[in-house]
Amino acid sequence: MNRHARSRTTVYVAGALALLAAATGCTSGGDSGAASAALVPASGSPATAAPSPSRSAGPSPTASPTGAPAAGDAAAWAKWHLTPLPPAPPAPADKPVKLARTGPVPVFSEVKTPDKVVFVTIDDGAEKDPKFVEMLTDLKVPVSMFLTRDIVKDDYGYFKRLQALGNRIHNHTVDHAQMSKVPPEKQKSEICDAQAALTQQYGTPPLLFRPPYGDGANTPALNTAVQQCGPRAVVLWRESMQIHDMQYQAADKKLRAGDIVLAHFRGPKDLKGETMTQMFGELLARIQEQGFAVARLEDYIEAPAA
Ligand SMILES: [Zn+2]
Repeated sequence: MNRHARSRTTVYVAGALALLAAATGCTSGGDSGAASAALVPASGSPATAAPSPSRSAGPSPTASPTGAPAAGDAAAWAKWHLTPLPPAPPAPADKPVKLARTGPVPVFSEVKTPDKVVFVTIDDGAEKDPKFVEMLTDLKVPVSMFLTRDIVKDDYGYFKRLQALGNRIHNHTVDHAQMSKVPPEKQKSEICDAQAALTQQYGTPPLLFRPPYGDGANTPALNTAVQQCGPRAVVLWRESMQIHDMQYQAADKKLRAGDIVLAHFRGPKDLKGETMTQMFGELLARIQEQGFAVARLEDYIEAPAA
């Protein structure tokens, strides 16, 4: 009893903290509930999300001639409680980004295109959720992966399943070093050693490099290191997906045609209990609400002639 009385303040504080935690959890649960509800196909006109009819739907068997998703697609989206995205237009024949075989590499965070598309990139590789493979198999949303060797090396095979869906793998260093904080020779080994491992595992040398945190992207040391190791561009981003919404660099918090969006392979530990597929569903919903399609980044980039 004495002890109980003596620690009353502590108990009170702990109680308040517990309440706070409960409230946060509650709010978070509420958010998630509301967000899930919002993901259910709404009664609103799907015409708002329809792509410009000025382009042909292309040879894709999954798209009807009007550009609307085929029934099978709609069922796949419904399975994930999502409204279908507009189908991406055909890949441009004249690529907006043309990479050279030698010399300094360009640094970009968006692609100049009149197409109402954005590009989704997913970094690191910590979360290896089988449900996410199922989701991308169902929805056929293209992604580009920037993998960190030491984060994926315990299960290279997971990303082979995503690669088999047509998604490319790019270089995101050996161990996620902050590049501007390490000497040039270390920058080089961070990129070259990851390049070697990813090439060996995935059969193709990564074409693109992304420095962790975007750090050092515009420094001569980093550019030189990238040139020495093989990637032919440094790719940054315009928006960064959090848990329920994106962080925008633009003040109006709107997507723009050609924006590159950053997401991460993250699970409940890093997403306040949300799963990778819940986070990705929310990302797609935010993109759908703004009427954008997701295109494949590599379809807009001309790799150097071999
Ligand atoms: Zn990263």
